[in-house]
Amino acid sequence: MRPLIIAANWKMHTTPADAGDLARTIAARTREPSVVRVICPPYVSLAAVRDAVVGEGVEVGAQNVHHERVGAYTGEVSAPMLVGLATWVIVGHSERRRDAGETDELIGRKLGRALEAGLRPILCVGEQLAEREAGRASEVGARQLEGALAGHDPQVLAEGGLVVAYEPVWAIGTGRNARGVDAAEMAEAIRAVLTGLGWPAETAATLPILYGGSVTSANIAEFLAEPSIDGALVGGASLKPDEMAGIVGRAAVTARARLEVAR
Ligand code: PEP
Repeated sequence: MRPLIIAANWKMHTTPADAGDLARTIAARTREPSVVRVICPPYVSLAAVRDAVVGEGVEVGAQNVHHERVGAYTGEVSAPMLVGLATWVIVGHSERRRDAGETDELIGRKLGRALEAGLRPILCVGEQLAEREAGRASEVGARQLEGALAGHDPQVLAEGGLVVAYEPVWAIGTGRNARGVDAAEMAEAIRAVLTGLGWPAETAATLPILYGGSVTSANIAEFLAEPSIDGALVGGASLKPDEMAGIVGRAAVTARARLEVAR
């Protein structure tokens, strides 16, 4: 059975002075052992969040990582630097594709650095609105996935705990979410791409797929009702403890229901 994962992407919010308090509050409001909880604060708040959630079972992630291990890259952060601060890392977020011009090839290299360092990657893929309207959503997702995963051994990716987040760009930070059925269709398409890339079907079936894009406590149930969706990558709502409590609480209900079905 795949785990239920709720990952919080705090983007460029919080300072080291306030991140610990927010993480502590969220951890205390979301104590659900059946749900994997991950908080991804800005780099500078990683240590504060790590220290704040000790003993809470909350895991810590970075929002990005450089594609080289070391070198003359002013202002950048490499995977080995994150070891001890984080155990997860987001790669290929659409805001980085947009603002930093990240390509699928570059994202694939980041994936490699993350895996080498033992960081569990959340690889984001998703189409623009015009691409969805043109009926090209799954083609775009497939291209992004194939580009980022090229040259990576499926077994290494699976053992490294790869998670894919389907994040339609038009739904991120807009308050406009995808429909659960569309997200589920994309999740199926993503697993089909993996088998097309030579992943054994049973390995592809173990890959957790999250939905991301304006998830709130009011709409999370629609996504978790889809058996192919294993949780959410949450942006704006993840800064609000009430919202996180509702989202994680719903994920715990789903985890229990799925366990019953599997028995
Ligand atoms: C995100 O940052 O990955 C995200 C999905 O943001 P939001 O929930 O705010 O749309």
